[in-house]
Amino acid sequence: MRVYDLILKKRNGGELKPEEIEFLIRNYLAGNIPDYQMSAWLMAVYFNGMSLTETTDLTRIMLESGTTLKWPVSRYKRVDKHSTGGVGDKTTLVVAPVIASLGVPVAKLSGRGLGHTGGTLDKLEAFDGIRLDIDPTEILDQVERIGLCITGQTRELVPADRELYALRDVTATVDQFGLIASSIMSKKLASGAEAIVLDVKCGDGGFNDTLSKALELSKILVSLGESFGRTTVALITDMSQPLGFAIGNLLEVQEVIETLGGQGPSDLTQLSYQLSAEALVLAGRVDDLESAHSIVKETIDNGSALAKLQAMVVEQGGAVSIFEDQNRVPKSKFTKDLTSQKEGGVLALSARAVGDVAMILGAGRETRNSQINLGAGVLLNHKIGDWVSKGDVLATIYTDDQGIIDQALNGLEKAFEIGDNKKEPNQIIMARVNNEGATVYGGGE
Ligand code: URA
Repeated sequence: MRVYDLILKKRNGGELKPEEIEFLIRNYLAGNIPDYQMSAWLMAVYFNGMSLTETTDLTRIMLESGTTLKWPVSRYKRVDKHSTGGVGDKTTLVVAPVIASLGVPVAKLSGRGLGHTGGTLDKLEAFDGIRLDIDPTEILDQVERIGLCITGQTRELVPADRELYALRDVTATVDQFGLIASSIMSKKLASGAEAIVLDVKCGDGGFNDTLSKALELSKILVSLGESFGRTTVALITDMSQPLGFAIGNLLEVQEVIETLGGQGPSDLTQLSYQLSAEALVLAGRVDDLESAHSIVKETIDNGSALAKLQAMVVEQGGAVSIFEDQNRVPKSKFTKDLTSQKEGGVLALSARAVGDVAMILGAGRETRNSQINLGAGVLLNHKIGDWVSKGDVLATIYTDDQGIIDQALNGLEKAFEIGDNKKEPNQIIMARVNNEGATVYGGGE
């Protein structure tokens, strides 16, 4: 087999056989295929796509490139939750403690943020001193004892994805659905998920700017999960504006604590309830979504879910001062309000633009090696659907970098569109996809 021929076959729109994909991945990992050839193949995939069979083969081959976490038999199925990434998306930090507090063990391997999107690990670092490099044996032990562990990806799981993703990142080949789906699902399978709940974002803050693209990606993800024998449900959720009001690591953790205390923003609360409910049904903890919703409410109302998050933070060595008094936690050196220049309805609030502003304030990474400022970010005061008066505070920025304030306020002002009428925001849950098909809520696009 020659790499050249496989690139040519894909370039000409052919379908690669499993042994051909295996040859490419194994030899790339072994250092026998140079980056320029692998990049050419990725670009050919980008333009010509992959069939579902090729995507399934790639997923399996990537999965087999590393080790798989093995879990002791448990009463409930091990459910993993994954979000395709967005702005202000802190649902993992709500959903994981909620379902763990209801007896469904959760071991979640999370990632860091890049560009305008945030990452769960960065948010967790708001708990000063927390350990996020827990090894597989310790993960098992912690889950056995307290039912919850959120930590970083271990190097042994899916090394092929790590190498390929790094190459995709610098060759403009990240946003190809087959490559995205195999990357996501190989990691879910390797971490021992028996069932999977996916949050596929739709809007300018995520991968998919239209519902039809989000549906296409969701269907591939669900088919992949099912073909590996894992019941998989995908919710397509709105990312045309940020989720919740807080964007930035410490600000988001505070909003998580509010939400687990029953006082969170309505969109974040609704989405977290639905994702938790889906996970509880998939785990076999309850039979239907309605009963799942009522036990989610109960575990939030009686404080068990919040206590579970705190127990995990303590177990992993993080400071708990944020739980004790949120107001006392220093956020950043400088804060500044953005005020409205006119009266009107908030018609748009670009998630992408707010994410970019949060990044330049120090909340996100421009490149993989950028340093994050945990206290930096944006706290929104108004979102789509609100009516504002001239002079009202639209949002507050937090940063340690005084020199960036004007640029950030400028960017944030452009993120808001204020007009003469009132507009209802999109429903937070736009569609649901499972192996029986897709249900679109509210009439679709
Ligand atoms: N998230 C992943 O894990 N992989 C991708 O390719 C894209 C998003």
